Amino acid sequence: MTHRIERLCVIGLGLIGSSVARAVKARLPDVIVIGHDASEAVRGEARALGFCDDIADSADAAVTDADLVILAVPVGRMADAARAMAPGLRADAIISDVGSSKAGVAAALRAALPDHAIIPAHPVAGTENSGPAAGFATLFDGRWCILTPASDAAPDAVAALTTFWKALGARVEAMDAAHHDLVLAVTSHLPHLIAYTIVGTASELEEVTESEVIKYSAGGFRDFTRIAASDPVMWRDVFLANKDAVLATLQRFNEDLTVLQQAIRRGDGEKLEQWFTRTRTIRRSIIAEGQDDPAPDFGRKH
Ligand code: NAP
Repeated sequence: MTHRIERLCVIGLGLIGSSVARAVKARLPDVIVIGHDASEAVRGEARALGFCDDIADSADAAVTDADLVILAVPVGRMADAARAMAPGLRADAIISDVGSSKAGVAAALRAALPDHAIIPAHPVAGTENSGPAAGFATLFDGRWCILTPASDAAPDAVAALTTFWKALGARVEAMDAAHHDLVLAVTSHLPHLIAYTIVGTASELEEVTESEVIKYSAGGFRDFTRIAASDPVMWRDVFLANKDAVLATLQRFNEDLTVLQQAIRRGDGEKLEQWFTRTRTIRRSIIAEGQDDPAPDFGRKH
């Protein structure tokens, strides 16, 4: 069976959900987009911004006749959101999500919707902002979207979702959910934990005043503050959902930190230089892959 996506429902109209809706209206203008958010205030804001064809007040009304439903709520709310929409779902609707961790979300969605085709996904794109006004249509351009279909997932549903994300500008790859969670623990979850730690530590150092931390932040600190400004609820849920992979990665990080700590204490400049040379290569590879701007200092105006 080939799936044609003519009607999309987005549940959760924050940064990612509203960006999906905006990207669909820009790139797939014939697709009808219905939105729903549990928050009345968000529904009102989304109506005023006008990035959906219609906003429904309930989840089950929103999903009526949808070919594809995308859940864009915090990972700890996926099960609730799935249960709320279940009565309105068409039997052949494809269910997907955009959650930042995958194994736990996939299990929660399967338990809530045992008879539906569930193809979990994670667009690896975002900003530190949240809410419907923060979204934009080009968020997924050139970014990766990782699908984590179960081994028995219907190939036509996987193909339809792949085509959908490519139409929004993303590059698509499929992998096992557990592997996704390990990769993202390294590339996203640990960096967020480190940023939350550094910014918290700096603000509590007694010898340095808060005004000094802000005043001299261009020395590197401010780059961590962007990440540490990310949505507290979303990130609380990510760490709770991806606990095992995050703790395993954190263990490795602590060991490496001890190696650098030793090198500093022993005056081992060679070790430090070797390490920093390798990390500089990684930054250059990210730029070469088109995953960041080559402009120095992230293109800030001086
Ligand atoms: P967001 O801006 O906070 O938006 C989430 C929205 O979902 C909020 O309006 C929230 O309303 C609503 N919501 C919560 N529970 C709901 C429910 N049961 N039913 C319907 N709506 C509900 O968050 P976001 O950044 O878009 O993140 C959404 C998802 O995308 C998360 O799973 C996150 O892991 C994933 N993701 C985020 C990023 C990123 O950089 N931000 C990147 C990739 C993937 P309330 O505020 O009233 O709770």
